[in-house]
Amino acid sequence: MCGIAAIFSDKPVAGELYDSIIHLQHRGQDAAGIMTYDERMHKEKGMGLAKEIFNEENMSLLKGTIGISHNRYPTHGGFSHGEVQPFWTSVPYGIALAHNGNLTNYNELAKEVTKTETRYLNTTSDSEVLLHLFADELHQTIPPQTDEEFFDLLCESVTSIFNKVKGAYSVTSIIIGKGLVVFRDPQGIRPLVKGERKNDSGKTDYIFASENTMFYPLGYEPKGMVLPGELIYIAENGKVFNKRLVKKEFNPCIFEYVYFARPDATLNDVSVYRARLRMGQNLATAWKNKYPDIMPDIVIPAPSTANTAALSFAHELGVRYSEGLYKNTFIGRTFIMPGQRERKKSVRYKLVPQELEIRDKKVMIMDDSIVRGNTSREIVKMLKDFGAREVYFASACPPVISPCFYGVDMPTKEELIAGRMTKNEIQEHLEVDALLYQEISDLVEAVTRRGDHYIDKPCMACLDGNYIANDIDLNTIDKIGQMRTSHRNGN
Ligand code: SF4
Repeated sequence: MCGIAAIFSDKPVAGELYDSIIHLQHRGQDAAGIMTYDERMHKEKGMGLAKEIFNEENMSLLKGTIGISHNRYPTHGGFSHGEVQPFWTSVPYGIALAHNGNLTNYNELAKEVTKTETRYLNTTSDSEVLLHLFADELHQTIPPQTDEEFFDLLCESVTSIFNKVKGAYSVTSIIIGKGLVVFRDPQGIRPLVKGERKNDSGKTDYIFASENTMFYPLGYEPKGMVLPGELIYIAENGKVFNKRLVKKEFNPCIFEYVYFARPDATLNDVSVYRARLRMGQNLATAWKNKYPDIMPDIVIPAPSTANTAALSFAHELGVRYSEGLYKNTFIGRTFIMPGQRERKKSVRYKLVPQELEIRDKKVMIMDDSIVRGNTSREIVKMLKDFGAREVYFASACPPVISPCFYGVDMPTKEELIAGRMTKNEIQEHLEVDALLYQEISDLVEAVTRRGDHYIDKPCMACLDGNYIANDIDLNTIDKIGQMRTSHRNGN
């Protein structure tokens, strides 16, 4: 999972792109980059958190009123500095590109780019492949002269990308002498929202981002989302062009609502906070049906993504909600860190149990999901060490049974506890007295119950094994799993 943002303004944009990275930091903490342009491209990027990468000195070099930014959480490619987005190429025009997602036919596309188009790939990043495909489509012997002609060329180029590229991708791009371009894959798997504000000169500034978490602080009005299959082009003179190039079923990622997105975000016209409240409500109803005789004394969320669902869950059960696990917010989210060892090590650094809230109580621990099971098991152990009489576990998400190939880092089936164990085995493994998973239908209901949204059917391939882009078979699962493990091991 990554975070992207793009800003078009008549004032320097570097500062606001930095703020955007900060407001999307939860989507990627491994690396970040900003690219701006005035008459030429300016780029700063590095490994780590935004505050570790950017400073007054390097920010002052990021000149220009159009720019893009990227928060990196690797789901494809290695972990080195060279893999940090945005990427850029000088032919044609000078194009910079950042993307959030994962291309599932990367090998095929990389072959096309290097063999047929004789372009050089310097990294294993799928964004670099996307950049070269895009650049190649835009390369014409007679370049278009007007904005309208250039938009026509963009439409052809992006349509061709939609035909060639499989997987999930939300894309932002700067083109020298032309302006800002954004597009979203035809099924809209990864999010991309848009906003506008009037600037001091009476003109309109535009922002596009994975989430609208920075809109309010930066003074932008939310204007909904970039539609699946839509291309938007803002020419240098401020003229806006847009076209929905392909219309398919709209299948946005359901895991954004479960885990990734910040609760204050609105994605695909659905409030993440409200969706999580409804997840808690639905789970409470299921709990009362399945375990009518078991009532916890207290509901404690595994902080902090589960807080919202736990709040409504406790409310529905009529049980006290307690922040009985204190989270040290200065340690990164465990799910997001590459490598199992770091993940295991960090749970106890990150969460501190409050004994007064736990001792002699029947504790319901609620988490957003159980992915690998290691964190859940350690939390249960901590609660028991601190004197819980009984421990129950509720997951706001159904069992995660299959890897994600659309931009979330959980690639191998072996790593997923529900991919190799039954619910009863998981209950035993976690050593809990009762376990409840959300049903898929209840999760979908929670996300789609309200709001003027256009979601046809969310992607939930990791929950039901149905890869909605029709691009994954057992062979691909194996191949991508091996490639991912190899990148993680630095090969
Ligand atoms: Fe999201 Fe799961 Fe689909 Fe991946 S497979 S895009 S995590 S719903």
